[in-house]
Amino acid sequence: MYQGNWKCSGCGADINQLPFQPDPAREEGLLCRDCHKQKMSDRPRRDNGNRERQMYQGNWKCSGCGADINQLPFQPDPARADQLKCRDCFRK
Ligand SMILES: [Zn+2]
Ligand SMILES: [Zn+2]
Repeated sequence: MYQGNWKCSGCGADINQLPFQPDPAREEGLLCRDCHKQKMSDRPRRDNGNRERQMYQGNWKCSGCGADINQLPFQPDPARADQLKCRDCFRK
């Protein structure tokens, strides 16, 4: 740990210890452990919650059970459309 006397740019708390040697030019962007943790845990959760995965609509048939497939999470290669599998068969 590196000892020093910095301030958290998030909550203003004193930081006396850091697991890395801070770049003096970036001292203003330092975050205490709590703010750092919050920042890290906030971001991915927000992204996953709001962003819907893009689905491709179409009319395919499952090569395993013959079920209709109307949605795929990827754009299927037309040359391999007869090898597509529905979600159930894909899991098997
Ligand atoms: Zn903080
Ligand atoms: Zn199937």
